[in-house]
Amino acid sequence: MMILVTGGLGYIGSHTVVELLGNGFEVVIVDDLSNSEKFILENIEEVSGKKFTFYPFDLKKKELLSQVFQAHNIGGCIHFAAHKSVGESQEMPLKYYENNLFTLIHLLQEFKDRELSNFIFSSSCTVYGQAEHMPIKEDTPLKVPKSAYGKTKQMGEEILKDFARAYDKKVSILRYFNPIGAHPSGKLGELPVGIPNNLVPYITQTAAGLREFLSIWGNDYPTPDGTAIRDYIYVVDLAKAHVAALKKLLACEENKVIDIFNLGTGRGVSVLEMVKIYEKANNVNVPYRICERRSGDITLAYADVRKAQKEMGWRSETTMEEALKTTWNWQSYLNTKD
Ligand code: UDP
Repeated sequence: MMILVTGGLGYIGSHTVVELLGNGFEVVIVDDLSNSEKFILENIEEVSGKKFTFYPFDLKKKELLSQVFQAHNIGGCIHFAAHKSVGESQEMPLKYYENNLFTLIHLLQEFKDRELSNFIFSSSCTVYGQAEHMPIKEDTPLKVPKSAYGKTKQMGEEILKDFARAYDKKVSILRYFNPIGAHPSGKLGELPVGIPNNLVPYITQTAAGLREFLSIWGNDYPTPDGTAIRDYIYVVDLAKAHVAALKKLLACEENKVIDIFNLGTGRGVSVLEMVKIYEKANNVNVPYRICERRSGDITLAYADVRKAQKEMGWRSETTMEEALKTTWNWQSYLNTKD
C-alpha cells in the first residue's frame, strides 16, 4: 500500500518513513525542504535499504498536490508538514494559519474528492495547556493554546473531527509529548536551524562545545528540584506509533473512526534530571546556568499512555539514557558534514 507522507524529510517524518518502509509500505514524500535537507533522502534510503518517491514542493500548491494523487494510488496519509516554531508563530501568526491549516484542508479535499480514507495527523500535547491533573489522559479538557502554532494544532484536530464525521472517514490524531533523540545509525535526527529552542538539541550543542552553557529556564517551579517537568519520548518509538496507528485504521471495518492518542512514555523528567542523564549517558559535561522562567512555559506535563497501549498495542520501549546516547552519534555525524 502506498502512503503519502508530507514533511517526510523532517525530524519525525524521516524516522517514520524508515518504519513504514520496514513494514512493507510504499511511500511518497512531499516536502518543500523549508526545514529539512536533501541529504536526508539518501540517508533514509541507506538506513532502510528501500527506495521511495519524492516531490519537492510546497503543499499550498494545490495543483501540484492534485497531480500526486493522480499519479499514485494513495491508501493513506501521514501529515507531518507544518511550521512548528512557537516563538515565530507569535510574531507571524498568519504564516502559521495559512500554512498549517490550508495545507491540511487541501489534503482533506483530495481525500474527500477521491474517496480516500486513513489520515494521520501530527498534533501536540500543547492542546492541553497546563492540565490540572497528571498524568494527562486523552479526555483531559483542552485549553486554548497560547501560541498561534498551538492553535493551528487544536483547529486542525477540530477540522479532522468534522471531516471524519461528515464524510465517513478514518482519522487518527496523535498528540506528541516531547520527541527526542536520533536514529541509532546516526544518519537521521533533528536538524538544528539557528539557536535551538528545544531542550535536548540545546544540551547536545552545549556538550559538543558549540554553546557555552545551557540556560535552564527557571528553578522555582513547584516540582521536586524546581525545574519544569516534561515527558520525553524517543523519536524511533514515536515513529513506530505512527505505523501502529495506521495499521489500526486499516484493520478497522467501520467507515467512521476518530482515534486520539497521547504519545509519550508516561514518565515525567525535570530539566535538571535531563542534564544529569545526558552527562552520564554520553560521558560529557553540560555547563548550565539558572535563568528566569521562559514566558509561556508550563510547569508539568506527562502522558497517560494506557489508551495507546490498549488500543494500538504500542508503548515506548527505549530508556532515556539510550535515547540521549543517539543524539551524540547524530551530532558527531553533523560535525563531519560541516
Ligand atoms: N528548557 C530550558 N532551556 C532551554 C530549552 C528548554 O530550560 O534552552 C526547558 C523549558 O523551559 C521546558 C523544557 O526545557 O521546561 C522543555 O522545553 P522544550 O522547548 O524542549 O519543550 P516544550 O517547552 O515545548 O515542552
